[in-house]
Amino acid sequence: MSTSIFEIIGPIMIGPSSSHTAGMVRIGMMVNRIVNENIQYVHVEFSQKLRMTYSGHRSHVALIGGIIGLSESDIKIRDAITLARNRGIEINVDFLPEGEYPENTARITVGCKDTRTITVVGTSIGGGSIIINSVDDVLLEIVPEGYHVIIWSDNDLNLSEIKGKVQSGRGQNRFVTCLTFSSMPSEILLSQLHNLKGVIKCEIVKPIIDYGVSLTNEKKYQSCLDLCEEAQQSSLSIAEIAVKYEAARSGFSEENIRKRMVKHLTKMKESVLEGEKPNKLLYGLANGRDAYLLKKAVNEKKLISGGIVPLAVSRALGVMEYNGSMGIIVAAPTAGSSGIVPGCFTTLLDEYGFSDERIANALFVCGMMGVIMSNRNVSFSGSVGGCQGEIGVSSAISAAGIVSLFSNDPKKVVHAMALCLKNLLGLVCDPIAGPVEIPCIKRNAVGVANAFISADMALAGIRSFIPPDEVIDALVDVEERLPHELKCATVGGLASTCTAKKVREELLNQ
Ligand code: SF4
Repeated sequence: MSTSIFEIIGPIMIGPSSSHTAGMVRIGMMVNRIVNENIQYVHVEFSQKLRMTYSGHRSHVALIGGIIGLSESDIKIRDAITLARNRGIEINVDFLPEGEYPENTARITVGCKDTRTITVVGTSIGGGSIIINSVDDVLLEIVPEGYHVIIWSDNDLNLSEIKGKVQSGRGQNRFVTCLTFSSMPSEILLSQLHNLKGVIKCEIVKPIIDYGVSLTNEKKYQSCLDLCEEAQQSSLSIAEIAVKYEAARSGFSEENIRKRMVKHLTKMKESVLEGEKPNKLLYGLANGRDAYLLKKAVNEKKLISGGIVPLAVSRALGVMEYNGSMGIIVAAPTAGSSGIVPGCFTTLLDEYGFSDERIANALFVCGMMGVIMSNRNVSFSGSVGGCQGEIGVSSAISAAGIVSLFSNDPKKVVHAMALCLKNLLGLVCDPIAGPVEIPCIKRNAVGVANAFISADMALAGIRSFIPPDEVIDALVDVEERLPHELKCATVGGLASTCTAKKVREELLNQ
């Protein structure tokens, strides 16, 4: 599947973590569609690494929210456990054996009214993206962007005539088959499938992602070099190329795609406003007033760095404080780094008087940088690649977007990205005790400042000595080499300090 621009500038989601909260909602939504029955109990087993973080990131709440039919942008997720219990659903949380499942995996066993159980295993792979790995222990690859038909049967079905991807296997009690299509299968076909001999249950699983099914597997735009060449030869801006790319991959009109980005910008503005109010963080490790303090100092002209950067930083802090209180934010590319893009671009919008459409174009440029990174195998998950893949990437794509507002030179855009990314290579993921609070919130501040400084350098004509594509590859290299203790394991870096250990102990005792 090709990466959507709206996976980089999106999803619109409830905080605090895109991998551990939004991703878990989406796994739950898939379970909801796969099971599609009255549920009596849910037994959740998380992979071991989630042991310390699941509670702080509300992974169990998010998963249950998805299972009862809520989406990742629904504020009611906050109350999902109560809502599920009110429906008479029993909930139990446990952990999977060490090393047998990928990071950020949930195995969900659902008990239905007729005493049957269905087991689904899903993995959150970063930035809210997920994959379903198995149903009733039959290994499958079910993506949330596709149309799937899941069939349980007594016998192995002969589906050689079907035009679509067919996966099947024998589970503990019965055969499970998954058919995948790029559009909704016809009523005639569905009726034929229902009536096949031996079929016990047949469910249509429609896409849970609203930015469209990928119509192609082609990973177009694998390098900044190719992108710049195309921009120069076609005389299109990077934003225009990005809109055309998204239209081609999704089948949606360019107008639809432009409107969608303006909607994401509107959500960002709302999160900035919410960030200016006092926010009560889930764990209260940060006081939720840092954005207020900085904004006050900006207004009183007490700061030494001056200009628009401190204002943008105060907005980034505010969005992160709102995210930390389970507010609705736009992941860009993740929730842990979701303050940087709105901080930078809402400030530029206000201070320079840019229109929403012009800022949306800059966001398309940010998204295009993320697509190239994704195609070059960058992980946007702190638990896979460290904070460099979250704060580092968010800062770098922002630098590119900022330059695009002031220059038509695509080379300046990609060099801003490279200059910025280099500064945060090696940044570790070390949240203390689990919640996306410390150091995550204030790291967004350095992401904003780095983006502006790098944009300024690129606009002044400074180039990255290492070509931009090679800088992205260097990020992949560092992501792979980074030890697992420094990837959201809550044992290394700041999480290893005496203060962090004390906080962790206190939280565990609670
Ligand atoms: S330290 Fe960085 S990567 Fe890790 S949870 Fe916080 S923001 Fe995300």
